[in-house]
Amino acid sequence: MTITVKTFARLADAAAALSTERGARFLGGGTLVMRAVNETDPAIETIVRSTDPSLRHIAISSARVELGAGLTMAALLAERELAFLHPVARVIGGPAVRTAATVGGNLFAQSPYGDFAAALLALDATTTLAGGFGQREVALEELLVRRDQGVSLVSSVAFRRPTTRTFRFVKVTRVHPKGVSVLSIAAQLPLMSGRVNGARIAYAAMGRTPVRARAAERALEGRPLDAAAVAPAIAVADEGTAPIDDAMASAWWRRQILPVHLRRLLLGDGQG
Ligand SMILES: Cc1cc2nc3c(=O)[nH]c(=O)nc-3n(C[C@H](O)[C@H](O)[C@H](O)COP(=O)(O)OP(=O)(O)OC[C@H]3O[C@@H](n4cnc5c(N)ncnc54)[C@H](O)[C@@H]3O)c2cc1C
Repeated sequence: MTITVKTFARLADAAAALSTERGARFLGGGTLVMRAVNETDPAIETIVRSTDPSLRHIAISSARVELGAGLTMAALLAERELAFLHPVARVIGGPAVRTAATVGGNLFAQSPYGDFAAALLALDATTTLAGGFGQREVALEELLVRRDQGVSLVSSVAFRRPTTRTFRFVKVTRVHPKGVSVLSIAAQLPLMSGRVNGARIAYAAMGRTPVRARAAERALEGRPLDAAAVAPAIAVADEGTAPIDDAMASAWWRRQILPVHLRRLLLGDGQG
């Protein structure tokens, strides 16, 4: 089957093509799209790509971080100011995958992928969507809910910069150092007078898309991060999740180990 590749200098033109061309798929780093092409996925008829420099733009201030959707994991790892995100970017595939894998592509990667998306969800990120007639902002959480319903081109993601040591991440895998997730947990845990104030916790591989752990977040509110105080949050760790069954782990196993790793993460007991 013939596949047409269309390259646009402007993101707006790429977005327009994506919504009008038959069987169009945007090409980020291609770690998943090219695999699908090589497997002759009949749904892909047109590859849309863009050389717009805004896709690789990084803006970091003391309060806010904005990342172009075309930034690769390797590019993020080269940015010292993004050190809090390095534990996430570093565990996405091996070096070859990280050289190509983009932030934007991670938001659309099917479970068990989506480690970076889970981190962004915990950071309460907003996405900017490019359209033929301008841009609009959509909360990442909302994008994830309806990402499979239509084609949107994400130009960037932005979030408030977390205060020192409030962001935590763990990826549980069976194949070290570069296996895919059994599950991943990202958490932003701001403290006020030693008590949790506005926790956000997100999981990857615990549902069709990365999901928030709302029940656990609520149970943590106003509590210190000690063994007794986090127990109610651990008890509801899997509420609202619908883990996948795959070659890495069954849904049952994912539910069994989630509380163990959430507890370790909250207590700062090392990585899973
Ligand atoms: C060997 C291997 C190991 C991997 N390990 C991991 C892992 O450990 N953790 C993990 O999370 N993922 C992993 N992945 C999956 C994948 O590499 C990453 O999720 C990566 O971030 C996807 O980005 P990409 O740019 O390569 O996406 P692409 O393959 O280019 O695209 C993936 C999907 O996203 C869409 N897309 C891409 N960019 C945009 C955009 N800006 N706007 C809208 N849609 C867009 C594409 O149209 C496509 O549907 C792995 C993949 C491989 C092949």
